[in-house]
Amino acid sequence: MNINNRLSLAVLGIASLLASPNSFAQAATEVPEVGTSPDWVIAIHGGAGDAKRASLTPEQEAKSRADLTAALEAGAKLLDAGATGPEAIEAALKILEDSPDFNAGRGAALDEHGDAKHDASIMRGEDHAAGGVAGSSRIKNPIAAARAVMEQTQNVLLHGEGADWFAADIGLEMANPHYFITEGREAALRRMRAFEHGDTNLGAPDSAYYGTVGAVVLDRHGNISAGTTTGGRTNKRYGRIGDTPIIGSGTYASNQSCAVSATGHGEFFMRWTVARDICARVEFADETLARSAEIMLADTLLPKGGTGGIIAMEPDGSVVFVATTANMRRGVMSSESPARVAVYTDEEVE
Ligand code: ASP
Repeated sequence: MNINNRLSLAVLGIASLLASPNSFAQAATEVPEVGTSPDWVIAIHGGAGDAKRASLTPEQEAKSRADLTAALEAGAKLLDAGATGPEAIEAALKILEDSPDFNAGRGAALDEHGDAKHDASIMRGEDHAAGGVAGSSRIKNPIAAARAVMEQTQNVLLHGEGADWFAADIGLEMANPHYFITEGREAALRRMRAFEHGDTNLGAPDSAYYGTVGAVVLDRHGNISAGTTTGGRTNKRYGRIGDTPIIGSGTYASNQSCAVSATGHGEFFMRWTVARDICARVEFADETLARSAEIMLADTLLPKGGTGGIIAMEPDGSVVFVATTANMRRGVMSSESPARVAVYTDEEVE
């Protein structure tokens, strides 16, 4: 990723080294151009992972870039027509949920029983309205259900059968649980199970793409919002819920500070309320958005063993990408700049 502020990152790298003497790792930060005064902006991610360049086929890479571009364009089309941020987030993330190559919707990571259980949330910065679903198994597009919880109920989070029942009741598209399961995710589950039992014959667990997806948006009404949707982690414990549906952990948006969508090892993002803390640093500690995110991801989570990435947006539509992994699929588009995407953290969006 384009190292935006080389000096601060050099210092950050040293700070991380001191905090964690056994591993030298630091955050890669990118601040992509979105124009001088954009009317609308959308930035998305498709999960942070450890796969380096050589481990992905050109076809895998090309497919990722095409899916990211299609998602950006779907959100942008609505934003350009004056839609709200949550409407654009839903449109963009549905495309990635429907793609089997991301860990959300079809192609979600499987739990220890071999089932796909989905977590999603959305938040609007204008009034802190928020909605989410956790552990759903039959909602075709969990991000749509999260938005419906926000807009059509007095609640913030529905889980399990209750979330499925709500979505069916209001007429959202439902799917047979088998619809979500792909051969790639079944193979990843076998590898992870074997690995966790000390058997490496099937190879290392496939962490190439964690593949959670998220978006942050500035709409024409001047509001920012954020949304995130995932299947969680491969071989997760039955009933486990991660950071993604938890407001303040995996998703947060406030017009007073920033909008954040996170991806990575969810338990760490929950324990350090990463999304909210990034925005709180901007609001109360007068940190820049990039520095706030670096402090949370590199200085705070990395020394504890938590890796991942975030996409974040300021109320004026400025975008920041920060990751502590080798890849974070991502993209950005605005009323003043075309869709640009990237896969690895050592490349810029283009
Ligand atoms: N944060 C997600 C979780 O822990 C997974 C990910 O982003 O890769 O459920």
